[in-house]
Amino acid sequence: MTDGVDRGPNADDRHRDDRDQAANQPLDVLIVGAGLSGIDAAYRLRERNPDLDYRIVERRSRIGGTWDLFRYPGVRSDSDIFTLSFPWNPWRGQRTVARGDEIREYLERTAEEFGIAERITFDVDVTGADFDSATDLWTVDALVDGEPTTFVTRFLYMCTGYYRYEAGYRPEFPGEKDFRGTFVHPQFWPEDLDYEGKDVVVIGSGATAVTLIPSMAPRAGSVTMLQRSPTYMFPLPWEDPMTKLLQRALPAQVSHTVIRWRNAVSTMLMFLFCRAFPKLSRRLLRRIAIAMLPKGFDVDTHFKPRYEPWDQRLCVIPDGDFYTAIKDGDADVATDTIARITETGVELDSGRHLPADIIVTATGLDLVSFGGASLSVDGETVEPGEKYAYRGYMLDDVPNLAWSVGYTNASWTLRVDLTSQAVAELIEYMRRGGHTRAVPSLRGARPEAHALLELDAGYVKRAGSRLPKAGDRAPWQVRHNLLLDAWDARRYDVTEEMSFS
Ligand SMILES: Cc1cc2nc3c(=O)[nH]c(=O)nc-3n(C[C@H](O)[C@H](O)[C@H](O)COP(=O)(O)OP(=O)(O)OC[C@H]3O[C@@H](n4cnc5c(N)ncnc54)[C@H](O)[C@@H]3O)c2cc1C
Repeated sequence: MTDGVDRGPNADDRHRDDRDQAANQPLDVLIVGAGLSGIDAAYRLRERNPDLDYRIVERRSRIGGTWDLFRYPGVRSDSDIFTLSFPWNPWRGQRTVARGDEIREYLERTAEEFGIAERITFDVDVTGADFDSATDLWTVDALVDGEPTTFVTRFLYMCTGYYRYEAGYRPEFPGEKDFRGTFVHPQFWPEDLDYEGKDVVVIGSGATAVTLIPSMAPRAGSVTMLQRSPTYMFPLPWEDPMTKLLQRALPAQVSHTVIRWRNAVSTMLMFLFCRAFPKLSRRLLRRIAIAMLPKGFDVDTHFKPRYEPWDQRLCVIPDGDFYTAIKDGDADVATDTIARITETGVELDSGRHLPADIIVTATGLDLVSFGGASLSVDGETVEPGEKYAYRGYMLDDVPNLAWSVGYTNASWTLRVDLTSQAVAELIEYMRRGGHTRAVPSLRGARPEAHALLELDAGYVKRAGSRLPKAGDRAPWQVRHNLLLDAWDARRYDVTEEMSFS
């Protein structure tokens, strides 16, 4: 994978080192993935284990993961940036949400500042890993510049995100071969796509569609969001005077901590409020929509979802930009189903025809565990979908392995950071006690299974049996609740339902 990015002068040396590593000493920890989770993992592991010998391997040619891959117009965070950034490296911007390139640069800068960048090897695609119970070591298979290589590590930490990079979810539409225009999936936005004056139809109504549309609207001829069913939208101010005040009054790290906690707790409270009072929250969100959309706009057809607020992720619209684009006549919305794609656009079941030069299929992600790498223990394949997750990040009967997955109802980092602190503590405990193996086990029990990611969203449902499951009791439960998880972290017992040898 090149991405046209220079890997830097040391890349070849590092690849040579990787091959040497395979022949020499095992690593203490191999982190797979140099996105937000991988950088946080490196920091937390070293914070607790300063002499830890770790390395990060990354399939892409740059740091950033999601924030490097997605480059569609207007790409930005859809949760507030103070909780999405690391608690240990202050976000210095003032706006509530941040652009994708700002987040990527922050991740790169952080990795440089904290000595993490020098431990990353790029262009390494991890394809599989096998744990050997005789030696308590993982042998990790990878392709480095297309050549097979192995790494040997005591502990394997998969910070690989939660979706497939090679392809997004893309249903086939009847008649799509007839279309004379251009199809674009937001995961692979062509750098040179010219949409000036063109008619654009965006299929989908998730965070991506809602971000794209106000960004494209001023230049495009027309932009229409085509949705099967509506999504809840929540306006958040781009700038918040209290944030600015705190940043001015307090040292950077202190203000970051205060703003972070304030934002995390208020998002959590809002989530709990929506869950506790669905009718009232529905009414409030509808009122906001009515107030921000043009008079007489059919809010109940286009902005009244069938589900309750927060059954699916609430879409943040900074300063209500999406509603403003509709109010200004720059964007439109159609709530309907596709009959077929024609040569010149999209024919809907209602008989309406949406003209299109460009169709953007904002149809979602294809979820995958462990970055698609296959795992085995003593040669026996681990089927992720058959496994229960221990505290949401280790797997039943799979030793010395962790997977970093964030929250879906709050910023990803809030959970990822708790996970990395817990993994760091586990590794410290193992090293102190001379243990070479830590394995959580249900000892054959099969508790009632729950989804690992709790949202009712299409992309979560589609992944169904491919992802590990959560159980119905601690430490196999996943609660999606920052406050409870943060409380638990204070009383964390590394030995709970975990055996060491
Ligand atoms: C468009 C978009 C917007 C989002 N916005 C938000 C938001 O505003 N707030 C929020 O909380 N969450 C958001 N998310 C969720 C988002 O993915 C997380 O916030 C976060 O960036 C994930 O970080 P990560 O490091 O866990 O995973 P990723 O960013 O996916 O990084 C994983 C890394 O692992 C590498 N990798 C994967 N498999 C392998 C392999 N087999 N071998 C080697 N390397 C591998 C990848 O190349 C990648 O660099 C968004 C997701 C998307 C898709």
